[in-house]
Amino acid sequence: MKKEKLGKIFAAVQTPGRYTGSEYNAYKYKNERFRFLLCYPDDYKIGMSSLGYHTVGKIVSSHIDFAVERCFAPAPDMEKIMREEKISLFSLESKTPADKFDLLGFSVHHELSFTNMLNMLDLAGLHPMRAQRSHKDPPVIAGGPATVNPALLGEFADLMVVGEGEGIIPGLLDRFTSSGSKEEFLASAAELEGVFVSGKSSSVRITPYLKFDDSYVPCGQPVPCVSIPHDRINIEISRGCRGSCRFCQASVIYAPYRQKTPERILDIASASVASTGCDEIALTSLSATDHENIIEIMDDMHYAFRDLGVSVVMPSLRPEDFSGKFASGLSRIRRGGLTFAPETPSQRLKKIINKNIDNEKILEAARQASLRGWRKMKLYFMIGLPSETMEDIEEIGRFISRIKSETEMKNITVSLSAFNPQPHTPLQWVIPGDPEVLAEKERRIKKIVRGTVKGIDIQSHIISSILCRGDSGLGNVVYEAFREGARFDQWGEHFDYSAWERAFNKDGKDIMEYYFRDFSRLKELPWDSVETVAGKDYLEKSYRIVLKLIGERTGV
Ligand code: SF4
Repeated sequence: MKKEKLGKIFAAVQTPGRYTGSEYNAYKYKNERFRFLLCYPDDYKIGMSSLGYHTVGKIVSSHIDFAVERCFAPAPDMEKIMREEKISLFSLESKTPADKFDLLGFSVHHELSFTNMLNMLDLAGLHPMRAQRSHKDPPVIAGGPATVNPALLGEFADLMVVGEGEGIIPGLLDRFTSSGSKEEFLASAAELEGVFVSGKSSSVRITPYLKFDDSYVPCGQPVPCVSIPHDRINIEISRGCRGSCRFCQASVIYAPYRQKTPERILDIASASVASTGCDEIALTSLSATDHENIIEIMDDMHYAFRDLGVSVVMPSLRPEDFSGKFASGLSRIRRGGLTFAPETPSQRLKKIINKNIDNEKILEAARQASLRGWRKMKLYFMIGLPSETMEDIEEIGRFISRIKSETEMKNITVSLSAFNPQPHTPLQWVIPGDPEVLAEKERRIKKIVRGTVKGIDIQSHIISSILCRGDSGLGNVVYEAFREGARFDQWGEHFDYSAWERAFNKDGKDIMEYYFRDFSRLKELPWDSVETVAGKDYLEKSYRIVLKLIGERTGV
C-alpha cells in the first residue's frame, strides 16, 4: 500500500500508532517460506497487553519456515475509512493485505469478540462464514480460551487449537509446510491431538503442556508505541489453580497446576528487561502466591532489579498473603490497590460455589495492608448465583461497612459481575439469573454500599452468556449481528444490544429463550466434543453436590 495514502489515513484517525507498526522489536520478514498473520479481534491496546497473543507470536516466529506479522481489530473510525477507501485489512509490519498471508491465526479470548473476528475477515475480503470460503482462501485458525466450545466458533474458523498451544502449534505448522493444499492441510491437522477441524473432527482432548518450565516465553516482544493498559513484562509463574470454584472455567481448562522454577523466572525477567527496557514486571498466574517458591522469587526479583528502577507487581493475591512470613515481602512489591474476589460474603453461597475465601481473612488482610500504608481496596462480587436471595445481597453492604469501620481502607471499590454458567464447569447446567432480578440486585447494592460500585452491563451479559454456551445454530445470528453493526461488544461504549435483537429476529430466534435455555435437560452439550483433564463425570458429581446443598436449604 502506498505510504502517502496511509499517511493521510493515519492523520485522520484517533491513536494512529495502533496501525503504524514500526515498534521496537516488531517482527521482521527474512525470506521465510510462509507468512502467518497473527490477528487479535480487539483493539491494539488489548491485544498488546495479552501474554497469550505474544506467546503465539514467539512460537510461530521460532519456526524456521514462518514469518509472523500482527493485525488488530480496527476501531470504528478506521473501519469507516477503510471501507470508504476500499482498503483491505493489512498487517502492521509490512502493510500486506491479510488475504495474501498463508495462514491467519486469531487469538480469541472472549466470545464477545466474535463479531470483531468476523469484521476482520470481511475487511480482509474473506467471507466470515467458514462454509462460504473457498479452498483458495487461507486457512483461518482460532486459538485461545474461547475454543473450549468449538461448536459456534467452528462456524467461522477452519480449525481450532483447543487448550494450550505450546505443544500443538509447532506440529500444526509442520503439517502446513508438508501439505499441498488447504484440504490436505485440514485433513492432516485433524489427526493432531488438541486440534479440532470444523466439519471433520468429532472430539478433541485438552492436553496440558507438561514441559511448562521450558515453555516458549515472549522475551523480546514488540514494545508498544502507544499507551496500553498493561505495558509491562508478564511472566506466567504458574499455570492452573489449586482451587476448584464451581463457576471457574480457567481452573478446569488449565489443569493440572504447574509452576516454573525460580531460576527460570529470573532468567525470563532478566532477558525481557534487557530486550524491551520495560520498567515493570508482573508475576502472573491464577493464584501467584500458591507458588511454593514465591518468597525466593520475590527476593530474586528484588535484588536483581532494585537498582534498575524496575518494579514488580503481583496481580493475584490471597487474603492470607497479608499475614505471616509473606507479609514482609509485600512491602517490596509496588503498592497498588488491594484486590480480592470473594464473589459473595454469604457463607452459604460460598459453600455452593466452593469459594474458599474467608470473610475474616479478608478483614485481617485489609487490617495488615492498612498498617503497611495501603488505602485502596477493590472487591469483586458475583451476583445471580444459584439460590441467591436478597438477604445474601444485603450481606455485601454489611461486609463493606465492617471493612470501613475496622480498617484504614477508605477507598473501596465494589466491582460486580453476573454469574455466567460457563462450559466445562460444574455449574454449566445452571440457568443464569433473570436479568430483571439481576438489575434489582444491582440497584440494591448501589444503595447500600458505602463506596464506589462498578455495575454490570446486563444486556452484554445476556449476549455473552448465550454465546459462550452457543451451538452451531447460532452461527448465522452472530453473522447477522456483525452485518447489523455489532463491533467491540466487550466495550460498553460500543456494545449495541439492538443489533443483536435484530440479528436474532432475522434468524427467527428469541434472545431470552436462548438465555434461559435449560442445559440440564440435554444429554449432550454443545461443547461435549472437548474433553478436559477433569472430565464430565467430575463435573456431574460436583453439580450433584450443588443440587443437594440447594435442596437441603429449600427443601426441594
Ligand atoms: S476462581 Fe480463582 S481461586 Fe477459584 S478456582 Fe478459579 S482461579 Fe482458582
